[in-house]
Amino acid sequence: MDPKNNIDEPMDIAIKGDKIALVQKSIDSGLSTQVIDATGLYVCPGLVDIHTHNFYGLDRYGQYSGGYSAIHPDGFTLPYGVTTVVDTGGSGWRDFVQFKEQVIDRVQTRVLAMLNIVGHGMKGSPYEQNLNDMDPKMTALVARQFPDDIVGVKLAHYAGHQWEQVDRLVEAGEMANIPVMVDFGGANPPLSLETLFMEKLRPGDIYTHIFGGGGFGRQAIVTPVGTLRPFVKAAQERGIVFDVGHGGSSFAFKHAIPALEQGIKPNTISTDSHMNSVMSGMKNMNNVMSKFLNMGMTLNEIITASTWTPAQVINRPELGHMSQEAIADIAIFNVLEGNFGFTEKTGVGKMMGKYKIENELTVRSGKVVWDLNGLTAPLWNE
Ligand SMILES: [Zn+2]
Repeated sequence: MDPKNNIDEPMDIAIKGDKIALVQKSIDSGLSTQVIDATGLYVCPGLVDIHTHNFYGLDRYGQYSGGYSAIHPDGFTLPYGVTTVVDTGGSGWRDFVQFKEQVIDRVQTRVLAMLNIVGHGMKGSPYEQNLNDMDPKMTALVARQFPDDIVGVKLAHYAGHQWEQVDRLVEAGEMANIPVMVDFGGANPPLSLETLFMEKLRPGDIYTHIFGGGGFGRQAIVTPVGTLRPFVKAAQERGIVFDVGHGGSSFAFKHAIPALEQGIKPNTISTDSHMNSVMSGMKNMNNVMSKFLNMGMTLNEIITASTWTPAQVINRPELGHMSQEAIADIAIFNVLEGNFGFTEKTGVGKMMGKYKIENELTVRSGKVVWDLNGLTAPLWNE
Protein backbone atom coordinates (compact mmCIF):
# COMPACT_ATOMS: atom_id res chain seq x y z
CA MET A 1 0.00 0.00 0.00
CA ASP A 2 1.91 3.00 -1.31
CA PRO A 3 -0.50 5.95 -1.66
CA LYS A 4 1.97 8.23 -3.42
CA ASN A 5 2.34 5.70 -6.23
CA ASN A 6 -1.31 4.60 -6.19
CA ILE A 7 -0.34 1.06 -5.30
CA ASP A 8 -2.82 -0.97 -3.25
CA GLU A 9 -2.31 -4.61 -4.23
CA PRO A 10 0.09 -7.50 -3.60
CA MET A 11 3.59 -6.65 -4.86
CA ASP A 12 7.19 -7.67 -4.26
CA ILE A 13 9.70 -5.13 -2.98
CA ALA A 14 13.46 -5.42 -3.33
CA ILE A 15 15.78 -3.51 -1.00
CA LYS A 16 19.44 -2.87 -1.71
CA GLY A 17 21.51 -1.14 0.95
CA ASP A 18 19.33 1.58 2.42
CA LYS A 19 17.23 2.11 -0.72
CA ILE A 20 14.19 0.61 -2.43
CA ALA A 21 15.68 -1.12 -5.49
CA LEU A 22 12.55 -2.37 -7.22
CA VAL A 23 8.79 -2.71 -6.74
CA GLN A 24 6.91 -5.01 -9.07
CA LYS A 25 4.40 -7.84 -9.20
CA SER A 26 7.02 -10.54 -8.86
CA ILE A 27 10.74 -10.45 -8.15
CA ASP A 28 12.92 -13.57 -8.37
CA SER A 29 13.74 -14.46 -4.75
CA GLY A 30 16.91 -16.17 -6.00
CA LEU A 31 18.41 -12.72 -6.55
CA SER A 32 18.22 -11.96 -2.85
CA THR A 33 20.27 -12.88 0.21
CA GLN A 34 17.26 -12.55 2.50
CA VAL A 35 13.55 -12.89 1.84
CA ILE A 36 10.77 -11.70 4.16
CA ASP A 37 7.44 -13.37 3.44
CA ALA A 38 4.69 -10.84 4.16
CA THR A 39 1.88 -12.97 2.78
CA GLY A 40 -1.42 -12.01 4.41
CA LEU A 41 -0.02 -8.78 5.86
CA TYR A 42 -0.05 -5.18 4.72
CA VAL A 43 3.14 -3.43 3.65
CA CYS A 44 3.37 0.35 3.65
CA PRO A 45 6.00 3.09 3.82
CA GLY A 46 7.50 3.77 7.26
CA LEU A 47 5.00 5.92 9.12
CA VAL A 48 5.56 9.66 9.53
CA ASP A 49 4.27 11.05 12.83
CA ILE A 50 4.41 14.85 12.75
CA HIS A 51 3.54 15.54 16.38
CA THR A 52 5.75 14.02 19.10
CA HIS A 53 7.83 15.11 22.10
CA ASN A 54 11.30 13.60 22.16
CA PHE A 55 13.57 16.24 23.70
CA TYR A 56 14.01 14.22 26.86
CA GLY A 57 16.66 14.98 29.43
CA LEU A 58 17.48 15.51 33.05
CA ASP A 59 16.38 19.10 33.58
CA ARG A 60 13.87 18.71 36.39
CA TYR A 61 12.11 21.91 35.29
CA GLY A 62 12.49 21.19 31.60
CA GLN A 63 9.21 19.34 30.90
CA TYR A 64 9.20 18.81 27.08
CA SER A 65 12.42 20.74 26.63
CA GLY A 66 15.16 18.59 28.08
CA GLY A 67 12.94 17.33 30.89
CA TYR A 68 10.96 14.32 32.07
CA SER A 69 7.74 14.78 30.07
CA ALA A 70 9.44 14.00 26.75
CA ILE A 71 10.42 10.46 25.73
CA HIS A 72 13.30 8.71 23.99
CA PRO A 73 11.64 8.01 20.63
CA ASP A 74 12.82 4.54 19.55
CA GLY A 75 10.77 2.38 21.94
CA PHE A 76 7.63 4.37 21.09
CA THR A 77 8.11 4.59 17.31
CA LEU A 78 9.87 1.63 15.67
CA PRO A 79 7.65 -1.06 17.31
CA TYR A 80 4.65 0.70 15.72
CA GLY A 81 6.07 1.16 12.22
CA VAL A 82 6.97 4.82 12.74
CA THR A 83 10.34 5.67 11.19
CA THR A 84 10.09 9.49 11.14
CA VAL A 85 8.82 11.83 13.81
CA VAL A 86 8.64 15.58 14.18
CA ASP A 87 9.31 16.87 17.67
CA THR A 88 6.90 19.76 17.84
CA GLY A 89 8.24 22.63 19.84
CA GLY A 90 10.31 20.83 22.46
CA SER A 91 13.22 23.07 21.62
CA GLY A 92 13.30 26.72 20.70
CA TRP A 93 16.12 28.59 18.97
CA ARG A 94 18.08 28.79 22.24
CA ASP A 95 18.26 25.06 22.94
CA PHE A 96 17.87 23.39 19.54
CA VAL A 97 21.57 22.51 19.35
CA GLN A 98 21.32 20.74 22.71
CA PHE A 99 18.32 18.77 21.39
CA LYS A 100 20.23 17.85 18.24
CA GLU A 101 23.32 16.65 20.11
CA GLN A 102 21.39 14.94 22.89
CA VAL A 103 18.68 13.19 20.86
CA ILE A 104 18.46 13.76 17.10
CA ASP A 105 22.00 12.56 16.36
CA ARG A 106 21.81 9.58 18.74
CA VAL A 107 18.62 7.67 18.02
CA GLN A 108 17.51 5.25 15.30
CA THR A 109 14.24 7.04 14.57
CA ARG A 110 14.55 9.91 12.08
CA VAL A 111 13.79 12.88 14.33
CA LEU A 112 12.93 16.19 12.68
CA ALA A 113 11.93 19.28 14.59
CA MET A 114 9.57 22.19 14.64
CA LEU A 115 11.17 24.95 16.68
CA ASN A 116 9.03 26.46 19.38
CA ILE A 117 8.39 30.15 18.74
CA VAL A 118 9.41 30.53 22.40
CA GLY A 119 13.22 30.66 22.49
CA HIS A 120 13.38 28.44 25.57
CA GLY A 121 11.11 25.81 24.05
CA MET A 122 8.37 23.88 25.80
CA LYS A 123 9.39 24.30 29.41
CA GLY A 124 5.82 24.94 30.52
CA SER A 125 4.57 27.98 32.35
CA PRO A 126 5.82 30.65 32.82
CA TYR A 127 8.26 30.24 29.88
CA GLU A 128 5.54 29.55 27.31
CA GLN A 129 3.66 32.68 28.33
CA ASN A 130 6.56 35.00 27.57
CA LEU A 131 5.76 37.02 24.44
CA ASN A 132 9.15 38.72 24.83
CA ASP A 133 10.86 35.36 24.18
CA MET A 134 8.93 34.84 20.91
CA ASP A 135 11.51 36.13 18.45
CA PRO A 136 10.64 35.47 14.79
CA LYS A 137 14.04 36.58 13.51
CA MET A 138 16.12 34.34 15.81
CA THR A 139 13.73 31.43 15.26
CA ALA A 140 14.01 31.78 11.49
CA LEU A 141 17.79 32.18 11.63
CA VAL A 142 18.24 28.92 13.53
CA ALA A 143 15.69 27.16 11.29
CA ARG A 144 17.70 28.23 8.25
CA GLN A 145 20.93 27.17 9.96
CA PHE A 146 19.66 23.57 10.28
CA PRO A 147 17.48 22.96 7.21
CA ASP A 148 18.12 19.19 7.36
CA ASP A 149 16.51 19.00 10.80
CA ILE A 150 14.02 21.83 11.18
CA VAL A 151 10.76 21.61 9.24
CA GLY A 152 8.44 24.08 10.95
CA VAL A 153 7.65 26.39 13.84
CA LYS A 154 5.29 25.59 16.71
CA LEU A 155 3.13 27.59 19.05
CA ALA A 156 1.71 25.87 22.13
CA HIS A 157 -0.09 26.44 25.37
CA TYR A 158 -0.18 30.24 25.17
CA ALA A 159 -2.98 31.71 27.28
CA GLY A 160 -4.33 35.15 26.55
CA HIS A 161 -6.91 36.90 24.45
CA GLN A 162 -4.71 38.50 21.81
CA TRP A 163 -3.12 37.51 18.49
CA GLU A 164 0.48 38.63 18.95
CA GLN A 165 1.66 35.04 19.62
CA VAL A 166 0.12 33.79 16.34
CA ASP A 167 1.40 36.77 14.36
CA ARG A 168 4.97 36.19 15.58
CA LEU A 169 4.68 32.47 14.81
CA VAL A 170 3.57 33.08 11.22
CA GLU A 171 6.22 35.78 10.78
CA ALA A 172 8.89 33.22 11.74
CA GLY A 173 7.38 30.70 9.33
CA GLU A 174 7.44 33.26 6.54
CA MET A 175 11.03 34.28 7.21
CA ALA A 176 12.22 30.66 7.21
CA ASN A 177 9.82 29.56 4.46
CA ILE A 178 8.45 26.66 6.51
CA PRO A 179 4.97 25.80 7.81
CA VAL A 180 3.79 26.57 11.33
CA MET A 181 1.81 24.36 13.70
CA VAL A 182 -0.67 25.79 16.18
CA ASP A 183 -1.71 24.32 19.50
CA PHE A 184 -4.25 27.05 20.18
CA GLY A 185 -3.67 27.32 23.93
CA GLY A 186 -6.48 28.95 25.82
CA ALA A 187 -8.24 32.25 26.20
CA ASN A 188 -11.24 33.56 28.09
CA PRO A 189 -13.38 34.18 26.13
CA PRO A 190 -11.95 31.76 23.51
CA LEU A 191 -10.18 33.24 20.50
CA SER A 192 -12.03 32.85 17.21
CA LEU A 193 -11.12 29.62 15.45
CA GLU A 194 -12.57 31.13 12.27
CA THR A 195 -10.16 34.08 12.42
CA LEU A 196 -7.25 31.69 12.97
CA PHE A 197 -8.21 29.45 10.05
CA MET A 198 -9.38 32.04 7.55
CA GLU A 199 -7.21 35.08 8.30
CA LYS A 200 -4.14 34.23 10.35
CA LEU A 201 -2.79 30.90 9.06
CA ARG A 202 -1.47 30.35 5.55
CA PRO A 203 -2.47 27.40 3.34
CA GLY A 204 -0.13 24.59 4.36
CA ASP A 205 -0.02 25.65 8.00
CA ILE A 206 -1.09 23.04 10.52
CA TYR A 207 -3.79 23.09 13.18
CA THR A 208 -3.09 20.29 15.65
CA HIS A 209 -5.45 18.79 18.23
CA ILE A 210 -8.17 19.06 15.57
CA PHE A 211 -10.57 16.90 17.64
CA GLY A 212 -9.64 18.52 20.95
CA GLY A 213 -10.68 21.80 22.50
CA GLY A 214 -14.08 22.63 23.97
CA GLY A 215 -14.02 23.37 27.67
CA PHE A 216 -10.37 24.38 27.78
CA GLY A 217 -10.87 28.02 26.80
CA ARG A 218 -10.66 26.83 23.22
CA GLN A 219 -13.39 26.24 20.65
CA ALA A 220 -13.85 22.74 19.26
CA ILE A 221 -14.55 22.33 15.54
CA VAL A 222 -18.04 21.12 16.45
CA THR A 223 -20.57 22.85 18.71
CA PRO A 224 -21.51 21.27 22.06
CA VAL A 225 -24.33 19.39 20.27
CA GLY A 226 -21.96 18.05 17.61
CA THR A 227 -22.72 20.34 14.67
CA LEU A 228 -19.71 21.18 12.55
CA ARG A 229 -18.94 24.88 12.78
CA PRO A 230 -19.72 26.55 9.44
CA PHE A 231 -16.19 27.66 8.49
CA VAL A 232 -14.42 24.35 9.17
CA LYS A 233 -14.89 22.77 5.73
CA ALA A 234 -13.88 26.01 4.01
CA ALA A 235 -10.74 26.14 6.17
CA GLN A 236 -9.68 22.64 5.11
CA GLU A 237 -10.44 23.50 1.48
CA ARG A 238 -8.34 26.64 1.90
CA GLY A 239 -5.39 24.36 2.75
CA ILE A 240 -5.26 24.46 6.53
CA VAL A 241 -3.85 21.07 7.53
CA PHE A 242 -5.98 19.30 10.13
CA ASP A 243 -3.66 17.25 12.33
CA VAL A 244 -4.85 14.78 14.96
CA GLY A 245 -2.19 15.34 17.67
CA HIS A 246 -4.08 12.96 19.95
CA GLY A 247 -2.04 13.52 23.11
CA GLY A 248 -3.24 13.08 26.66
CA SER A 249 -6.41 15.16 26.57
CA SER A 250 -6.55 16.60 23.06
CA PHE A 251 -8.81 14.05 21.39
CA ALA A 252 -12.51 13.52 22.12
CA PHE A 253 -14.81 11.00 20.44
CA LYS A 254 -17.67 13.50 20.90
CA HIS A 255 -15.83 15.78 18.46
CA ALA A 256 -14.21 13.24 16.14
CA ILE A 257 -17.24 11.03 15.47
CA PRO A 258 -19.68 13.83 14.49
CA ALA A 259 -16.96 15.66 12.54
CA LEU A 260 -16.21 12.52 10.50
CA GLU A 261 -19.94 11.96 9.96
CA GLN A 262 -20.16 15.52 8.61
CA GLY A 263 -17.31 14.96 6.16
CA ILE A 264 -14.20 16.17 8.00
CA LYS A 265 -11.30 13.73 7.91
CA PRO A 266 -7.91 14.58 9.38
CA ASN A 267 -5.20 15.37 6.81
CA THR A 268 -2.52 13.92 9.06
CA ILE A 269 -2.71 11.32 11.83
CA SER A 270 -0.24 11.95 14.64
CA THR A 271 0.22 10.90 18.22
CA ASP A 272 1.44 13.84 20.33
CA SER A 273 3.36 11.15 22.19
CA HIS A 274 4.85 12.07 25.53
CA MET A 275 5.25 10.46 28.93
CA ASN A 276 1.59 10.85 29.80
CA SER A 277 -0.17 10.14 26.48
CA VAL A 278 1.63 6.83 25.84
CA MET A 279 0.22 5.56 29.14
CA SER A 280 -3.38 6.73 28.63
CA GLY A 281 -5.90 6.83 25.77
CA MET A 282 -3.40 7.60 23.00
CA LYS A 283 -0.97 4.69 23.60
CA ASN A 284 0.78 4.56 20.22
CA MET A 285 0.46 5.40 16.52
CA ASN A 286 -1.23 2.09 15.64
CA ASN A 287 -3.85 2.65 18.33
CA VAL A 288 -4.64 6.13 16.99
CA MET A 289 -4.83 4.79 13.42
CA SER A 290 -7.10 1.97 14.65
CA LYS A 291 -9.52 4.51 16.13
CA PHE A 292 -9.95 6.11 12.72
CA LEU A 293 -10.36 2.72 11.04
CA ASN A 294 -13.19 1.94 13.45
CA MET A 295 -14.71 5.40 12.95
CA GLY A 296 -15.06 4.69 9.22
CA MET A 297 -11.98 5.96 7.42
CA THR A 298 -10.63 3.45 4.93
CA LEU A 299 -7.28 1.76 5.52
CA ASN A 300 -5.91 3.49 2.43
CA GLU A 301 -7.00 6.91 3.74
CA ILE A 302 -5.38 6.14 7.09
CA ILE A 303 -2.08 5.06 5.54
CA THR A 304 -2.13 8.15 3.31
CA ALA A 305 -2.66 10.36 6.38
CA SER A 306 0.25 8.60 8.12
CA THR A 307 2.79 8.53 5.27
CA TRP A 308 2.64 10.56 2.07
CA THR A 309 0.47 13.45 3.27
CA PRO A 310 2.54 14.25 6.38
CA ALA A 311 5.74 13.95 4.30
CA GLN A 312 4.37 16.62 1.95
CA VAL A 313 3.13 18.80 4.81
CA ILE A 314 6.67 19.04 6.21
CA ASN A 315 8.17 19.47 2.73
CA ARG A 316 10.00 16.13 2.81
CA PRO A 317 8.86 14.56 -0.47
CA GLU A 318 11.67 12.01 -0.22
CA LEU A 319 9.80 10.37 2.70
CA GLY A 320 6.50 8.54 3.05
CA HIS A 321 6.59 6.40 -0.09
CA MET A 322 8.30 3.35 -1.61
CA SER A 323 9.34 4.60 -5.02
CA GLN A 324 12.42 3.12 -6.62
CA GLU A 325 15.53 4.75 -5.05
CA ALA A 326 13.52 6.02 -2.07
CA ILE A 327 14.92 5.42 1.41
CA ALA A 328 13.87 1.92 2.48
CA ASP A 329 11.67 2.78 5.45
CA ILE A 330 8.89 0.19 5.57
CA ALA A 331 6.21 -1.01 7.96
CA ILE A 332 4.57 -4.43 7.74
CA PHE A 333 1.36 -4.69 9.72
CA ASN A 334 -1.69 -6.78 10.42
CA VAL A 335 -5.31 -5.76 10.92
CA LEU A 336 -6.69 -7.90 13.72
CA GLU A 337 -10.42 -8.55 13.96
CA GLY A 338 -12.11 -8.92 17.33
CA ASN A 339 -13.78 -6.87 20.02
CA PHE A 340 -11.49 -4.03 21.05
CA GLY A 341 -11.91 -1.02 23.34
CA PHE A 342 -10.39 2.37 22.55
CA THR A 343 -10.20 4.99 25.26
CA GLU A 344 -9.75 8.74 25.36
CA LYS A 345 -8.23 11.06 27.92
CA THR A 346 -7.20 8.97 30.89
CA GLY A 347 -9.58 6.16 30.02
CA VAL A 348 -12.81 7.96 30.91
CA GLY A 349 -14.62 7.39 27.62
CA LYS A 350 -14.48 4.25 25.47
CA MET A 351 -15.40 3.35 21.90
CA MET A 352 -15.68 -0.28 20.94
CA GLY A 353 -14.39 -1.41 17.57
CA LYS A 354 -13.84 -4.51 15.44
CA TYR A 355 -10.41 -3.70 14.04
CA LYS A 356 -6.99 -3.20 15.49
CA ILE A 357 -3.85 -2.37 13.55
CA GLU A 358 -0.80 -4.24 14.84
CA ASN A 359 2.63 -3.55 13.42
CA GLU A 360 4.62 -6.72 12.74
CA LEU A 361 7.92 -5.56 11.33
CA THR A 362 9.74 -2.29 10.73
CA VAL A 363 12.55 -1.56 8.30
CA ARG A 364 14.51 1.65 8.79
CA SER A 365 16.96 2.62 6.04
CA GLY A 366 17.06 -0.97 4.79
CA LYS A 367 17.60 -2.62 8.16
CA VAL A 368 15.05 -4.63 10.15
CA VAL A 369 14.72 -2.76 13.45
CA TRP A 370 11.58 -4.46 14.81
CA ASP A 371 10.23 -7.95 14.27
CA LEU A 372 7.28 -8.75 16.54
CA ASN A 373 6.70 -12.40 15.60
CA GLY A 374 10.10 -13.32 14.22
CA LEU A 375 9.17 -13.07 10.53
CA THR A 376 12.87 -12.87 9.68
CA ALA A 377 14.11 -15.51 12.13
CA PRO A 378 14.62 -19.23 11.49
CA LEU A 379 13.03 -21.72 13.90
CA TRP A 380 15.29 -22.31 16.90
CA ASN A 381 15.81 -26.01 16.14
CA GLU A 382 16.50 -25.72 12.41
ZN1 LIG B 1 2.20 18.22 21.74
